[in-house]
Order: sequence, then structure tokens, then C-alpha cells
Amino acid sequence: MLRSLEDYVEFVGDKAVSSIYKKASNLYSKHICHVNSTFLGGGVAELLSRIVPLTNEIGLDTGWRVVHGTPAFFNVTKKFHNALQGKAINLSPMEKKLYLSVNERFSTYTHIEDSDCVVIHDPQPLPLVKFYKKRQPWIWRCHIDLSNPNKELWDFLKTFMIRYDMVIFSNEKFKKSNLPVQQRIIYPAIDPLSLKNVELQDKDIARYIKLAQIPTDKPLITQVSRMDPWKDPEGVLEVYRLVKKKVDCRLLYCYNLAADDPEGMEVYSRVQRKAKDLIESKDLLFVVGNDDLLVNAIQRFSSVILQKSIKEGFGLTVCEALWKGKPVVASNVGGISTQIKDGENGFLVESHDYKGCADRVIEILKNPNLVQKISKKAKERVRRHFLLPRLLSDYLDLFIELIK
Ligand code: UDP
Repeated sequence: MLRSLEDYVEFVGDKAVSSIYKKASNLYSKHICHVNSTFLGGGVAELLSRIVPLTNEIGLDTGWRVVHGTPAFFNVTKKFHNALQGKAINLSPMEKKLYLSVNERFSTYTHIEDSDCVVIHDPQPLPLVKFYKKRQPWIWRCHIDLSNPNKELWDFLKTFMIRYDMVIFSNEKFKKSNLPVQQRIIYPAIDPLSLKNVELQDKDIARYIKLAQIPTDKPLITQVSRMDPWKDPEGVLEVYRLVKKKVDCRLLYCYNLAADDPEGMEVYSRVQRKAKDLIESKDLLFVVGNDDLLVNAIQRFSSVILQKSIKEGFGLTVCEALWKGKPVVASNVGGISTQIKDGENGFLVESHDYKGCADRVIEILKNPNLVQKISKKAKERVRRHFLLPRLLSDYLDLFIELIK
């Protein structure tokens, strides 16, 4: 269902909503064009599916275009993603050519020249700026953990970044002193009114859990994530094995595959091989999380939410779980550390410390009072900082500043 901005008053108050309407009045009928590389799977698609309709609703004309990549193109861009998060890369001239040619071809059938501002998400469509006659501000909005990017790739991609008017990262830690472009931090946000985050009654949660054939006889420890090495699904198994020695519980891995991430199936097969015994004993369940209401119910039904990422730009899954007042045990990396204050509204552990992570989970499972203590604070932190109206307001500030 389409939402109106005023529907968010109950979460952020009428002052915040009224200030957004005022900002929007400076931008009536301005055309904004967002470009990314998938409409389904992953945080960027999730964000765009919520922010684009709301921006239209307040009077800006906002479009969302998706780069038409081939499997070979997405193999190259996943290598980019991995290298930007610190892995080595061996980039052949053919791969560079393929990367550029898919972007160039897109520019021959997609008209974005009439936009007043273009927002390019992540590295896949980054070179587009080179293939259009630039008549408006262009923003590169990077959602990746850039704490330690591979230098070779960074230098190559920087040749496109310097054409942009502004670069947006998800965390102060990702800013780059060797990038001579204005850099700004905007935190992502979740939509409290989306099917994924809307309040659910206990009977509805129970119905969804039953429909997905999830047994309810033991507490559930859950990670919701794409099948991606950066989400450390194998580490999740190790942590669970340690927890299981002390508390009888079940592990649920709710996963989906993103159209622009070709590694998913391979990672899934590897994890399945490593977890054969757990799958056979029904201690581990894999659930496909393509239904937002099911993901919502799973997050609400779980006793502990894990997010064992090795790198994380922001981590919407963390935000979603905090919003539901759930105890989250997550790695102290990237944007996760911005969302969780350890011991206050959730728990941070070092990503390689399986034992530390397991100990936290055990502590939570054994001590329901601990959950009560942090639950309210978890939700309140998200309400204050990471809900959709704040993100919309940040974007409007940016457009007002850049569009002359
Ligand atoms: N997600 C989902 N189903 C799944 C796994 C993930 O709907 O089975 C959603 C999740 O709820 C979140 C997004 O995909 O909204 C993932 O965003 P995040 O920032 O956590 O990670 P990314 O995939 O962008 O690295």
C-alpha cells in the first residue's frame, strides 16, 4: 500500500514531518533519477523501494532505473565489491572493457538527461557519468564498507568518482582523504510501515512461522542475510555449534539471493556441505526470505538475532531487528558499530571471536531480564536515527544544496 508522509507522524512527530514538507516545497517538480543494479535482494533495493515512492509522494518526480547487467558483468562487479571491502583483485583489460561497455550500452537506451539530479548507487553503474552529457549534479552513493579498499581498484574507480559533484558514504570511517570530491555521510534507514517492519500481532507471527514449517519447540537463533562470504555464514555455524553445547536451541538462516550477486548459490552449497549434520538433525533450518511478512515474523519470533558480518556498509538487518526490540549480537564492523552501543541496545563482538559471540548468545538465552533491559533502547535508537523520514530529509537537504 502506498504511504503518505503524514503516516510517519506517529513515529517521528509532526515537527519532523512538517519540516520535510517545507523542504520539499523548494523542489516541486524537480526530477530525480536513482540508478542501481538490482530491483530485488540486498539493502540498496530495499532502500530504493521505500524512499522512491515517498519522495514522489511529497512532490518531487523521482524515478528508479536498473542497469541491465549480464552474468559476466555481475561477476566483474562482485569482484569490485569484494576488492572494495579489502580483497585482492586481478583485473584484466577485458573485464574493465566489459564493465564500461555495459554502462555505455545502458546510456544509449536510457534517458536521464532531463533529470535535475542523478543519484548513482554503488560501483556497478558508477561509470555512467562518463557516458552522458552531464547537465546536472551527479551524486555517487556508495553503500559498501570502504574501511580498507584495494588500492588498485580504488585508483581505477576514482577516475569516475572525480566526475561527481558529491560522494555519499554510510559512515564517517569510510571517508577518503585522497578523493578530491565533496564527501558526506548519510545513514541508511528502514521503513517502519513496510511489510518487513510493520507491527505484527502474536497470532499473525505464529501463523507465518507455521506456514513456513518452522518448528517452535526450541529457541531460535537467526541470521537474516544474503548468501555472501562477507556475512560469514560459515562463522554463524561455528558460533551455533558452540552455543548448542550449552543451550538447546535451533539455528535459522534466512537467506535470499540478489540478482546482482552471482556468488550466492556457490556460498549456499558450501555452507550446506559444512552443515550436513546440523541439517540432518533438524538443528539448522534454511528459509528463503523473499516474503517480507515472513522475514518480519521470523525476526520477531527469534530469541536472538545474529549479524556476524566481516565487513558491513550499514546493515539494514541489524536495524530491522533492533526496531523489533530484539537482542542483536553483531560484529563490531562498519556501520554496525554506529547502530549498536555495546551492552546498551545490543551487543558487539569482534568478528573473528566465535567464542565471545557464542558466550553472548548463551547469556541472552539464559537471562530474559537482559532482553527486557535493552529492548526499549534498541527500538528508541532506531526511532531517533534510522527511520525513513530522516533519510528523506537528508536527501532533500542534499538536493536543495546541489540543484540550482
Ligand atoms: N533480506 C530479505 N530476505 C532475506 C535476506 C535479506 O528480505 O532472506 C533483506 C533484509 O531484510 C534487508 C536487506 O535484505 O532489508 C539486506 O540489507 P543489508 O543492508 O543488511 O545487507 P546487504 O544485502 O545490502 O549487504
